[in-house]
Amino acid sequence: MDKIVVFETYYNPIEANIVKARLIDSGVQCFLSDENTITINPLYTQALGGVKLHLFEKDVELARSILQDELAEIPLTAEAEAADIEVCPKCGSSNVGYVQATKKRFGIFTIIVSLLLMVYPFHARKTYHCFNCENEF
Ligand SMILES: [Zn+2]
Repeated sequence: MDKIVVFETYYNPIEANIVKARLIDSGVQCFLSDENTITINPLYTQALGGVKLHLFEKDVELARSILQDELAEIPLTAEAEAADIEVCPKCGSSNVGYVQATKKRFGIFTIIVSLLLMVYPFHARKTYHCFNCENEF
């Protein structure tokens, strides 16, 4: 049985999925963890340490060389950032804008979580807002 290791950690679930898709396309078996929790509630990103990409230890070198080849040709997040198109991680809509966060949505909760975890409040003032499902990410 091969050992499974954490290959990389991502704070953006979309980026994690792009990398995962690239590796699977290239025949490298891998999977993500903590992805759903972070997609549903981005506040947990720091608490959980991001979306983790796991793969077999024997594939680490192969995965690195695949991703380096990709980087040389296309930026890693090309799909997500092409022409400034962001996609809502909740509903998949591209009808999103980079706007001021609606503070009332996360404000109190962010402060409580920050106090509980004894970390500096980490919720960004500006955020992506989905005009389709009102999701913020
Ligand atoms: Zn949405």
